[in-house]
Amino acid sequence: MTDWYRLFKGRWKCPKCGSQDIIINEHALTGAGFTRLMNWQSYEYVAVTCARCGYTEFYSKQVLGGEREAMKILDLLFGS
Ligand SMILES: [Zn+2]
Repeated sequence: MTDWYRLFKGRWKCPKCGSQDIIINEHALTGAGFTRLMNWQSYEYVAVTCARCGYTEFYSKQVLGGEREAMKILDLLFGS
């Protein structure tokens, strides 16, 4: 299992307030109603919340992929 906190911590920076304190939550949109409504398969997301101002961003696990891929994406976004 990917340790998302470790991946995002120190890389992700809040676009609103610039804080690097984060809270990680994982969401799976697998609810029957939702899936039917959107005609989606089950999509999973990593939610990164700024611990200072509460701003939250969602990243698709499908796109982030594995740990190495996710690291590349985060370095691309935040240029560390
Ligand atoms: Zn913030």
